[in-house]
Amino acid sequence: MTESAETPVIAIHDLHKSYGSLEVLKGVDLLAPRGHVVSLIGSSGSGKSTLLRCCNLLEDSQQGEIRFEGEPVRWKGQGLGRHPADRAQVTRMRTNLSMVFQQFNLWSHLTILQNVMEAPVTVMKRDPKEVEIKAREYLAKVGIADKADAWPAMLSGGQQQRAAIARALCMEPRALLFDEPTSALDPELEQEVIKVIKALADEGRTMILVTHDMKLAADVSDHVIFLHLGKIEEQGPPAALFGAPKTDRLRGFLSAGS
Ligand code: ADP
Ligand code: MG
Repeated sequence: MTESAETPVIAIHDLHKSYGSLEVLKGVDLLAPRGHVVSLIGSSGSGKSTLLRCCNLLEDSQQGEIRFEGEPVRWKGQGLGRHPADRAQVTRMRTNLSMVFQQFNLWSHLTILQNVMEAPVTVMKRDPKEVEIKAREYLAKVGIADKADAWPAMLSGGQQQRAAIARALCMEPRALLFDEPTSALDPELEQEVIKVIKALADEGRTMILVTHDMKLAADVSDHVIFLHLGKIEEQGPPAALFGAPKTDRLRGFLSAGS
């Protein structure tokens, strides 16, 4: 391995992604250095979710380069995950870059503890006893240790999302990918999730965060990328992007969103 402290966890270069004839990513670059938080902002339909999903191979892509800790990630262009070698790679990417979705996506037939333990035990084949200890630690970390034996439907949206974050953490991933993690929550519940995301940023976790919450992006990010129709329109440190936007598009986006 040529991995060093400087090797980004994820490095994407010139990524192109189409759905049929619709090109939704038109040559996008993204670097997520270890310990950094990169936020993706932009209007609905600009390609934020698609870019995030390409990072951990939830989607394949047609052209460009994806490196995970310096190693090129192969894909077949079509039918990603069918070939056994692809399947192994897909599993590796999804467990190392674990994702938190807008709609939580907890298994309704599993308790909160079982949800958190599921992937490490069944996919990663870890020892259930050790996983349970870790799972309870992560539930405590996100403030819902007392909900271990509850069913997802018994929890508030904010608690469900914190359970989903504990589930992502329990895979002990190299980076966390968040896709609009607070968008489905009422404002008062948003804050409890924001608090957890800020704590994770403070402890130096590598994260890519898609968010409509410009205050959150400004608070936690080392780098912000503004996507417009599948291209990077502007990027930089949050103080520059939010304090002194250069393009009319970003200025327009920021004033419309606030
Ligand atoms: P964002 O997350 O920024 O709102 P998306 O990445 O979800 O944007 O979508 C980018 C574009 O890709 C949109 O035009 C959307 O309609 C299209 N798109 C997303 N997913 C699919 C899909 N599975 N099939 C076809 N088009 C899609
Ligand atoms: Mg989206």
